[in-house]
Amino acid sequence: MRRTLAPPFRIKVVEAIRIPSREERERILKEAHYSPFRIRSEDVYIDLLTDSGTAAMSDEQWAAMMRGDEAYVGSKNYYRFEEAVREITGFEHVIPTHQGRAAENVLFGALIKPGDIIPGNTHFDTTRAHIADKGGKPIDLIGEWLWDFDHEYPFRGNLDPARLEYVLRKYHDKIPFILLTGVNNVAASSPISMENIRETRELAERYDIPIFFDACRFFENCYLIKMREAGYGGKSVAEIVREALSYADGCYMSCKKDALVNIGGFIALGDEKLAERCKERLVLYEGFPTYGGLARRDLEAIAIGLREGLDERYLEWRVRQVAYLGELLERAGARVIKPTGGSGVFLDVYSVYPHLSEKELPGVAAFADMYLEGAVRIVGAPFPVDFVDLDRGEVERRTFEFVRFAIPRRALTKAHMEYVGAVMERVVERAHLNKGFRVVYWPEILGHFFARYEPIS
Ligand SMILES: *Cc1c(COP(=O)(O)O)cnc(C)c1O
Repeated sequence: MRRTLAPPFRIKVVEAIRIPSREERERILKEAHYSPFRIRSEDVYIDLLTDSGTAAMSDEQWAAMMRGDEAYVGSKNYYRFEEAVREITGFEHVIPTHQGRAAENVLFGALIKPGDIIPGNTHFDTTRAHIADKGGKPIDLIGEWLWDFDHEYPFRGNLDPARLEYVLRKYHDKIPFILLTGVNNVAASSPISMENIRETRELAERYDIPIFFDACRFFENCYLIKMREAGYGGKSVAEIVREALSYADGCYMSCKKDALVNIGGFIALGDEKLAERCKERLVLYEGFPTYGGLARRDLEAIAIGLREGLDERYLEWRVRQVAYLGELLERAGARVIKPTGGSGVFLDVYSVYPHLSEKELPGVAAFADMYLEGAVRIVGAPFPVDFVDLDRGEVERRTFEFVRFAIPRRALTKAHMEYVGAVMERVVERAHLNKGFRVVYWPEILGHFFARYEPIS
C-alpha cells in the first residue's frame, strides 16, 4: 500500500472555492495586468501561487493557539517554541521573527558590510534583495546542471565545489559567510545532498568562513536525502536534519513552509555574541526577543508544526503528491524538471511554448493560460542567477525561467491535482495561439511582485 497517495490525515474543516465563468476570467486577467500578484484569491479555483504560509494547520495547532500567553516578556509559548527549535536544530540561541525575510534582515544586518560577497548554491529572491540592501553581492555557485532539463539530477540544488573554490581563492577576505539553501526554489525545488554540504564545510574551513543555512524547506530536503542518498535510508529525517545543521554555524527558517504555519520564522545560532547582536537588531525591527514580531499563540503553533513537519508519513505523502502532479502535467504533454522535489512542480516552459523567446515572457504566458482555461493560479517569471563562468573568471547574470506549480501543504486532494492536469491539457492544445507578453511596469526591488504586463498582439 506504500504507493498509494492516501493522506495521513482527514478533513475536519472545509473552505469553499469556486470557478469564475470564462467571461469573468477574461476580465479579471485583463484588469490584473496579467500578473498573478494582482488577482484576488476569491477569483482563483486552485491556487498554486506559493507553498508559503498556505498550509492547513492541524487540530492540535488550532487547539494550541487557545493556549496563547500574550505576555510581552517571557511568555510560556516562547519557551516551548525555543525548546522545539533547539531540539530540532541543535543550536542554543533561538530568535523568533515574523517570517523568513525578517530573519534575513536581522541576521544579514549583523553580518554583511558594503562590498561583501555572499556565495551560495542559489539565493532566493528575498535573500538576494536583503543581501543587496546591506550593500552585499549575492553569487550563485550552481553548475550548468541548473539549465539541463534533459537529465535527471537527484540533487540539482548542489553547489559546484569547483566554483566555490574559485570564489574562495579570489575573494575570501570579502566573504563573511556562505549561505546554503535547502530544497531550493531556484533550482526547481531540488535538494542539496549531505555529501555536498560536507564538501562545502571542508572548503569553508580552509578559509575559516562560517556557513549558514536558509532552512525554509529543510525537512523536505532531508527527507529527499533519506530517499536518494546512499547511507541515509536507515536514518530518521530528524537525525538527518541534525547532521546537516551540525556542519553549519547557524540557520534561519521561514516557518511558513515546512513548519506548517501561516506566519512565523526564526534564527538559530551557535554563537552567543552573534545572537546578542541579532537580538539588538530584533528589538528595532521585529520586537522583544520572546515574541519577535508574532503573537505568542503563533509561537505555540510553530512549536507543534515543527514536529508535525518532521513526521515521515506526512513527508512521504507530501513528496508523492508533488511527484503525482508532475506525472499529470507530463501526461498532459508538458515537460517538467525532474525528478520533482519539495515545494512544487517546475515546468520546462519552452516545452509548451517553443515558439516564444525569453523576451516574450513564456512564464507569463503559462500563468495567463492556466488562469484563463481553469482559474488555476501559478507563477512564471525570469529569475536572475549570478552565475560564475569559470572559463572567463567572471560573474555573469543569467536567467532561469521560473514557472512553478507550488502546492500548499495538507490543503489539496488528489482530485484537485487531476483538475490541474486537465487544465494543462487544454493549455498545451492552445499554447501555439499565445503570442507572448511584454513588460509595461517593473520596479527595481523585487520587480516580479509588482510587475504589469500586456499581451503582444
Ligand atoms: C520563503 C523563503 C524565504 C523568505 O521567507 P518569507 O517567510 O517568505 O519571508 C527565504 N528563503 C527561502 C529559500 C524561502 O523559500
